[in-house]
Amino acid sequence: MHSADISSRALRFFEDRGHTVVPSASLIADDPTLLLINAGMAPFKPYFLGEAPAPHKRATSLQKCVRTVDIEEVGKTSRHGSFFQMFGNFSFGDYFKEKAIPYAWEFLTSPVADGGLELPEDRLWVTVYLDDDEAEQIWRRDIGVPAERIQRLGMSENFWSMGVPGPCGPCSEICFDRGPEFGQDGGPVANDERYLEIWNLVFMQNIRGEGPAKEGYPILGDLPSKNIDTGFGLERMAALLQDVPTIFDIDTTRQILDLAAELSGARYGTGVRNDVSLRVIADHILTSVMLIGDGVTPANDGRGYILRRILRRAVRMMRLLGSEDPVVHELVAKTIQVMSPMYPELTGERERIDRIAVAEEAAFIQTLKAGTAIFDLAADEVRKSSNLVLPGDKAFQLHDTYGFPIDLTLEMASEAGLSVDEAGFRKLMQEQRARAKADAVRRKTGGHGETGVYRDLLALGPTEFTGYSELESEAVIR
Ligand code: ATP
Ligand code: MG
Ligand code: MG
Ligand code: MG
Repeated sequence: MHSADISSRALRFFEDRGHTVVPSASLIADDPTLLLINAGMAPFKPYFLGEAPAPHKRATSLQKCVRTVDIEEVGKTSRHGSFFQMFGNFSFGDYFKEKAIPYAWEFLTSPVADGGLELPEDRLWVTVYLDDDEAEQIWRRDIGVPAERIQRLGMSENFWSMGVPGPCGPCSEICFDRGPEFGQDGGPVANDERYLEIWNLVFMQNIRGEGPAKEGYPILGDLPSKNIDTGFGLERMAALLQDVPTIFDIDTTRQILDLAAELSGARYGTGVRNDVSLRVIADHILTSVMLIGDGVTPANDGRGYILRRILRRAVRMMRLLGSEDPVVHELVAKTIQVMSPMYPELTGERERIDRIAVAEEAAFIQTLKAGTAIFDLAADEVRKSSNLVLPGDKAFQLHDTYGFPIDLTLEMASEAGLSVDEAGFRKLMQEQRARAKADAVRRKTGGHGETGVYRDLLALGPTEFTGYSELESEAVIR
């Protein structure tokens, strides 16, 4: 079953049950607390928080999501992409657990001919929050899931909250047992790769009070109306239904991956290192295309910095795999081709997306050319001294003069078996920031601000100046 088919089935199933189909919002969140949309519920936040009246009691959507917190996992696990699509059904003070659980079960298990996905019931496991006896009862009594396939999980896994005071409530996750070839048994609590989490049901029922996010933080009371927020990853569902081992092997993403293999000469399926790289490349190119499609452009801070790092990481990995020529033009074209059946607007944006991505690749290749030789020299020196730490001032020089963001230096150092004196680097960055501030003040007050003036010139010059805001935005990406 193709990704597009799974998506339209899910939307139709819930539309038939009184849900209004809402198109995906842009990845650029209309929300100052969120850089990029990272869950299906995000565009509906005002309704859940009671800040705006919900225009419909029930909604359903397939939402584009980017999760920077998962970037480190991409390609290493079978189930985390930095871009993914979250299907969801939502109830704003309408139905609650007693309906949300049977809806999810019915969609997953009913025959394909009846609009379901026909997953075998005996492979499905569920988790509920520690003290959520009510949800467990529904699973056992109403659905008939045997007790041994229901597990309890604590706050970090199975409790959702947003703000203090704010709505919160227990979750229930549905997982699929992919079998012994994916590792040891014992249910989702024991093995989250074998028992693939596909669907999360959030029961928004309480108001959270002040207190640490651990077992038993104070619950101030019940919400005036109870809400439902659910989400399943389209890519994970596609991996199951297409019987492929990872979300990078599904009908859409795999085509980008195969082109990356062809262009770089690396073979997929011949070793963990190459496989992880090819998955990361496919994921990052896809993420970049979707971000640029929604209007993000490469920059040194905020969303633009996330895009810049993700796209550059893909370019660098292609080069490590063996590509010597630019690759972005072809990879972007392929990505638009495979995603446009679901996102037809990409076709009209083809030229703009290509132009932005290709220019970023060219700028990065320049940066790499200038900085790599300096990095290699520094790494050799470090090794000679039998000390395996790249000094902070080297990392600073690479950053300041050659435009190497610290995470690129960290990545290259780790590949070379070295670590980096990050504390030293940060100290120098701070000093530079303080100098720049003082210069700005001096300039304003008519004093001499030479360093600042040179710095401004540098910003316009041929070496890429990555700006002061970079350290803040790194926190977002790593
Ligand atoms: P996991 O425990 O596997 O990291 P999660 O509990 O963080 O998943 P949720 O926040 O519950 O995920 O999101 C709802 C659903 O979205 C998940 O059940 C999963 O199907 C999907 N999903 C979440 N993160 C990703 C991701 N990085 N890539 C692909 N799908 C994802
Ligand atoms: Mg997660
Ligand atoms: Mg989880
Ligand atoms: Mg979850």
